[in-house]
Amino acid sequence: MIRIGIGRDIHRLEAGRKFLLGGVEIPFGKGELGHSDGDVLAHAIIDAILGAAGLGDIGEIFPAEDPAWKDSHSMDLLKSSWDYVKEAGWRLVNLDCTVTCEEPKILPHREKICRSLARVLETDAGSVFVKGKTNEGLGFIGAGEAVEALAVCLIEKE
Ligand code: MG
Repeated sequence: MIRIGIGRDIHRLEAGRKFLLGGVEIPFGKGELGHSDGDVLAHAIIDAILGAAGLGDIGEIFPAEDPAWKDSHSMDLLKSSWDYVKEAGWRLVNLDCTVTCEEPKILPHREKICRSLARVLETDAGSVFVKGKTNEGLGFIGAGEAVEALAVCLIEKE
């Protein structure tokens, strides 16, 4: 059996925060505002894998109003989410993601991000892909006020 999952997230960008994508810190003057560390890509992937397995969503499993998740590391939340999916018997076939922001450029950091995600998802880096896009200067993403991530995954089990 195979199942597909989709996840999407958006975070405001503010000065003095770390810009994190898939656990990789990208040097930039601003970063994602969030209850957790704000890693927008990790959050989108959590929703994609949980959704594919029909196990819930990020807000349900890690509620923002629960102080237990304040300043949590999103890659730890991704690891916990992957453990749920894996324990239900699923294996990741592939994960494809798009990150949209005007700055910084994603491409120079892409391989590192893919490797970081593959490590947590217990797959090879070739099964994970991350693309960077700009918003062509349009809207709040184009104005550099936010970063958005989309993730699609395929999972399978016997
Ligand atoms: Mg989020």
